[in-house]
Order: sequence, then structure tokens, then C-alpha cells
Amino acid sequence: MPVEASLIEILACPACHAPLADRSAADPAELVCTSGDCGLAYPVRDGIPVLLVDEARRPA
Ligand SMILES: [Zn+2]
Repeated sequence: MPVEASLIEILACPACHAPLADRSAADPAELVCTSGDCGLAYPVRDGIPVLLVDEARRPA
């Protein structure tokens, strides 16, 4: 279930406050931090972004 684009525009990475890239149509659905130094990927569960650093996937 994709996340609304208007919602993604107002969201920011809770770790570094960079904008998030919409990967909610991918599998797994995620919102990915656009900061090269951070790059955390936050899960989207049932169309709801989980913007918690503890839940985020670290970049490889
Ligand atoms: Zn970040």
C-alpha cells in the first residue's frame, strides 16, 4: 500500500532530518533517508510509515 506523496513531502528522517525518498511501492515497502551519511530505511506497515530509528534498516 503506497504512502501518499503529500505525506512523504512533510516527513523527515528522525535521525538527521533529511527528506525521505518514497520506496513504499517496492518490496519491502520503505521510506529511505536521502542523506548519504545516514541512509536509514524506515519500514512502511499497512501504508503507515514507521519513523523510528530503532525500527529502521541500516544501509549495507
Ligand atoms: Zn537520515
